[in-house]
Amino acid sequence: LAKESGRSNYKFFANETLQNKQPILLESELCSAIANGEIQVFFQPKMASTGDCLYGMEALCRWIHPVHGIIPPAQFIPLAEKNGDIVVLDKKMIELVFAEMNKKAFHGLHVAVNISTQQFYNNHFVSFIHKQMQDNPEVDVSKLEIEITEETAIQDVEGAAQTITELKELGIRIALDDFGKGFNSLNYLKQLPVDTLKIDRAFIANLPEDFQDQAIVSSIVTLAKKLELAIVAEGVESQEQLNWVQDLKCDYAQGYMFSKPLQTSEFLTYLQAFNKE
Ligand code: C2E
Ligand code: CA
Ligand code: CA
Ligand code: CA
Repeated sequence: LAKESGRSNYKFFANETLQNKQPILLESELCSAIANGEIQVFFQPKMASTGDCLYGMEALCRWIHPVHGIIPPAQFIPLAEKNGDIVVLDKKMIELVFAEMNKKAFHGLHVAVNISTQQFYNNHFVSFIHKQMQDNPEVDVSKLEIEITEETAIQDVEGAAQTITELKELGIRIALDDFGKGFNSLNYLKQLPVDTLKIDRAFIANLPEDFQDQAIVSSIVTLAKKLELAIVAEGVESQEQLNWVQDLKCDYAQGYMFSKPLQTSEFLTYLQAFNKE
């Protein structure tokens, strides 16, 4: 899979907390980082919106860099999308997620994984997933959810609907991520046979104070309920926000209020603590 030319370097701007926004040049490329096992899965818990029951988790990638430590996706995904490495990254994440789902501790939990536009519209994507299923027959794929963003879905609504249908025929669920962010969200919702809507974090952030966001979130929830979609509120950080999405009867909530994304070992500890309660 080596690229012939144009092996670009990854340039990073470290977190403010790390190094005063100094650009850091990583000499290693994402592709070799993937091959070296430097890309890992972190998990963020997803709760029933009652807040007391763990439904599952979202898999989020992290680059564990030997020098720079944990690098969040915002610092390498945009470039990976530009140079096409994102396809390799997404495949790796799917392989890692299937491997994790094989673990006994994770049985019964729903796992969501993010897929880029390029990967989603790749002709081999559905057969790649099918191959993972054949290689991991113990994995219950009805617990697997693929998240595509609204932005991905609107690139080619008909093509997206076709791929979603094919994935659903394999028994996989599909979520529409960052819902509401796009301008035309409602227009094409009818055409996309998705199972879940994830309300974009931007609409949750200023709850409960912001009346406009209140109106938007409650309309999205009402609509989603009528369409019989599951609803996830993203970015829930406070008890007030949780109360609010609970009152609206959102099905699930995700956010720092419960936990940041955790590496597998930390997530297992989280699970143990949870099961003891
Ligand atoms: P996303 O799919 O919308 O994921 C949610 C992001 O919000 C995550 O950031 C998560 O850590 C963050 N978050 C969760 N709860 C809260 C909260 O309460 N407050 C705040 N302020 N943030 C919260 P993360 O992990 O940095 O990922 C950023 C984006 O990178 C993701 O947004 C997703 O679009 C993309 N991404 C992450 N992993 C993958 C991957 O494996 N493949 C692809 N294609 N994209 C990925
Ligand atoms: Ca997501
Ligand atoms: Ca999102
Ligand atoms: Ca996003």
